[in-house]
Amino acid sequence: MRKPIIAGNWKMNKTPDEARELVSALVPMVKDADCDVVVCVPAVDFAAVKEAVAGTNVKLGAQNVHFAKSGAYTGELSADMLKACGVEYVVIGHSERRQYFGETDKTVNQRVLAAVEAGLIPLLCVGELKDERENSYTNAIVEYQTLIGLNGLSGDQVKDVVVAYEPVWAIGTGLVATDEQANETIGVIRGAIERKYGKNVSDAVRIQYGGSMNPGNVKGLMSQPEIDGGLIGGASLKAPDFTAVVMYNK
Ligand code: PEP
Repeated sequence: MRKPIIAGNWKMNKTPDEARELVSALVPMVKDADCDVVVCVPAVDFAAVKEAVAGTNVKLGAQNVHFAKSGAYTGELSADMLKACGVEYVVIGHSERRQYFGETDKTVNQRVLAAVEAGLIPLLCVGELKDERENSYTNAIVEYQTLIGLNGLSGDQVKDVVVAYEPVWAIGTGLVATDEQANETIGVIRGAIERKYGKNVSDAVRIQYGGSMNPGNVKGLMSQPEIDGGLIGGASLKAPDFTAVVMYNK
């Protein structure tokens, strides 16, 4: 049995005061959640959120990590720096990073390796563009992105990685994959992991769906056998909405 994991991706939203307010409202409402709960926040909010979630079931996440240990990388943050701030999870390879900041499967893989080495849990994002789905390339794309993203990890390390299947056409658009589409593609990702790492690894690895997941569609998506949680953008920015997603089974 895989424990579901629901993570909020705040993107470039919330000042430290706003972050403290949101998380302070969220914490008591999700204390009985059956899933792991994570908030992936801007780095300027780490201290405020770390304090607000201390001793609770809500965990702190980041939205990216650099692959080098240290050095001349102006504006970047290393995995050790994130760890030192109390970060436990990190989104890697989000489509917005790939689209606007030139991240490639190669650098995504380097970031995953650096995160795992530092003891962070990557939320490795993969997903097809609209025209890739329309031209039936979805399976090839997600298999490739997943296997390249995980390259260099041992089977035991892969078990602890979280993969987020995020069809790019569904992110921030209000369009959502059908329950069956999401389940089927996540099954394809799990199959690729099984072929490379074996069934005990593919049975253990958690694969989320992301893309306009919200209080209205979470139940249907989470009822699918392959879907182990969600990566939530817009609906994670208000405590009641994110609570409704996290408490989908209550
Ligand atoms: C995301 O940012 O990963 C995401 C899925 O966003 P949204 O829920 O807003 O589509």
